[in-house]
Amino acid sequence: MSTTANAAAAGSEPLLLEVDDLVQRYTMPRENLFRPAPQVLALNGVSLRLRAGNSLGVVGESGSGKSTLARAVMALETPTSGSVKLLGRDLHRLPAEELRRARRDFQMVFQDPFGSLDPRQTVVRIVAEPLTAIGRVGGAEQRARVAAVLKQVGLRDADMDKYPHEFSGGQRQRIAIARALITHPRLIVADEPVSALDVSVQAQVLNLLEDLQDEFGLSYVLISHDLAVVEYLCDEIAVMYLGRIVEQGRPEDLLNRSAHPYTRALLEAVPQARPGRVRQRRGAQVIASQAKGSTGCDYAGRCPFADAGCRAVAPVARRVGPEHYSACHHAETVMTLPPLTVEV
Ligand code: ADP
Repeated sequence: MSTTANAAAAGSEPLLLEVDDLVQRYTMPRENLFRPAPQVLALNGVSLRLRAGNSLGVVGESGSGKSTLARAVMALETPTSGSVKLLGRDLHRLPAEELRRARRDFQMVFQDPFGSLDPRQTVVRIVAEPLTAIGRVGGAEQRARVAAVLKQVGLRDADMDKYPHEFSGGQRQRIAIARALITHPRLIVADEPVSALDVSVQAQVLNLLEDLQDEFGLSYVLISHDLAVVEYLCDEIAVMYLGRIVEQGRPEDLLNRSAHPYTRALLEAVPQARPGRVRQRRGAQVIASQAKGSTGCDYAGRCPFADAGCRAVAPVARRVGPEHYSACHHAETVMTLPPLTVEV
């Protein structure tokens, strides 16, 4: 959605992250010897801009490409085409040694605080791991930095020599956040950071992320299937469907003047009380839909507004408000629908 690039470009802070026309194509295992291996376009031309100190939420159902986008932004996987620039450096074209050093500027927090912390390592080793990875800092200084960062996330010095199993889910996510913070990054990519946590703990972790942002001027790319989570923390939200950004704008625009029927469907799926949970759909459907090779809108098959024009011509993203973009032929009609009363 290249035009959405302009929303952040209009601000005054320097550009932190620039994602241009990112494509990620996966080849699936062959189902039939006489047919070509099926392919899935996990990212189908994604473009984004993020200014320093701002945060972007990425929402969509399971299989829409959110984690693939996170892995590409974190340079954990090389995209088929397109670029990811952080502070002007094209991460996928940096020599390995430069990329290793650049990693201090961007860190990741994963969904599952149970799976992402090595159970055999003490907290001090887990949290210091990114420092070790960029090749500096040992011994006493390392412990001092770990102690400082544990304090920032609400844990104690005494927690340093414990093991992950000695902590609750929320505390483990705090450890994961401490690990991400220790290199003083500019950007944290958080992939479903609270969805594995109890509802009562989710708000505490989101509050912590917000406090850390205020204190350190951090930026987040916050990935969630839950609009309520990203609305809380983000200045801008991108809605993904089948590897594309179909709507992007400020949270209030998306919630009150949705300009894409898919965004409305996500909002309708949010229960009236927190936590918002969107019904999950799996990737098989994604592949089936893309395999048809239709030239029309990917959402037409599920869309109550779809007409012959939608089935014939894929809509391109266009501006529908000051910082609001939609890839829907019927955006203006959708925007006139009464807002959904969603409690977030
Ligand atoms: P989300 O995070 O929104 O659930 P993903 O990025 O995990 O979506 O997946 C997007 C699509 O790409 C899905 O159809 C998924 O099955 C497919 N996919 C993701 N990673 C791989 C992979 N390593 N190999 C093959 N297909 C993949």
